[in-house]
Amino acid sequence: MRKSFFLAFLATFLVLQLSAQGGEKVFALRCGSVFDGRSDSVRSNVVIVVEEGKIKSTADTAPAGAEIIDLTHETCLPGLIDTHTHILLQGDITAADYDEQLLKQSPEYRTILATVNARRALEYGFTSIRDLETEGAGYADADVKKAIGNGVIPGPRMQVATRALDVTGAYPLVGYAPNIVVPHGVQIVDGADQARQAVREQISHGADWIKVYSDRSYRVREDGVLDDIPTFTPEELRAIVDEAHRERHKVASHAMAVNGVHNSVEAGVDSIEHGNYIADQDLRSMAEHGIFYVPTIFVGEYVAQGRAAEGAPVWVKMIQIHEDTFRRAMKAGVKIAFGTDAGGFDWKVNPAKEFSSMVKFGMTPVQAIRAATVTAAELLGMRDSLGTIEPGKLADIVAVPGNPLTDISQMEKVDFVMKAGMVYRKP
Ligand SMILES: [Zn+2]
Repeated sequence: MRKSFFLAFLATFLVLQLSAQGGEKVFALRCGSVFDGRSDSVRSNVVIVVEEGKIKSTADTAPAGAEIIDLTHETCLPGLIDTHTHILLQGDITAADYDEQLLKQSPEYRTILATVNARRALEYGFTSIRDLETEGAGYADADVKKAIGNGVIPGPRMQVATRALDVTGAYPLVGYAPNIVVPHGVQIVDGADQARQAVREQISHGADWIKVYSDRSYRVREDGVLDDIPTFTPEELRAIVDEAHRERHKVASHAMAVNGVHNSVEAGVDSIEHGNYIADQDLRSMAEHGIFYVPTIFVGEYVAQGRAAEGAPVWVKMIQIHEDTFRRAMKAGVKIAFGTDAGGFDWKVNPAKEFSSMVKFGMTPVQAIRAATVTAAELLGMRDSLGTIEPGKLADIVAVPGNPLTDISQMEKVDFVMKAGMVYRKP
């Protein structure tokens, strides 16, 4: 009883603090042009009025008394959403890069680095992210999310996955002598009961999403299909999805190849991460059941050469397979959400390079921007408050100096960032 009173008090306090952060001020953003995410074109000379952290209206003129922000040489867009990040990771092209972070950096030090990455993400224009597991840093993502939410540090709005799940022997650190106990980048579980228990634990410690690794060890078959070793049995995967859904949480599945994807789709996960190869029948099921595809193209290109040099040339071949899958997914009408795997590459590299990768693989610039706004907001379950510029939605607005519909690389040049009515970056 006393605890619930305290929680209610705390919640009220947080809400008050957040709205103060959102700013009492009325802003008028004078945009040279706007892509609002509702139509497929840009509109010229639009004033976006922002009040109490929300979009109040779009108009031709600014209301009296509003603080005017001059973006007349800019294109304004809805705040960008990256649905696949790792703020606790600093790039892992080689296994050694990864092992070093888990063996030589404390979770506390990694959390300090994560706060810097969160700030970087926001400054690149990502006002919301779904962070898909801490890679051995425990529940640190839930704390970074809390610090951002409380206005302690700048960063995007976050949904977090905490520790992720995989089976014995499948996830690094691996390859050490059996008598040496090493940390793992995930919570190891075997069997449906252990998996359910881990889902309950992770949710109780703040996981918004449950992340599972559904496959590993990739090779290209003679018929060109990308083959894998599935990690969980279908029974284990079904238990994970059932437990998460029962607790009103969603499941993201790392699945790069034929079996991992198939088992995940059959188990009813909510998003397929990477999906370098997806069979046509699984694409049809994904379209039918509204399972999202988060392709993370750029990271594949970025790590391919390094991993090939380390003796895994399959990563180079995967790029063509990925392009073919991406084009088939578009044709099949699968919902494709923008996600980058940032952290899998260095956070100093702007994850917005993914926009160009999506266009190279066959999307129009409008489709790529929609993937990072409207569709990504839907994946987060926040379509009512995010993803478009329209009255009543949260004032998450970014701007770029050129027209991204004619030059998609403009998305790498975000120079204005507003999140919930607070300005974090100005041209
Ligand atoms: Zn990832």
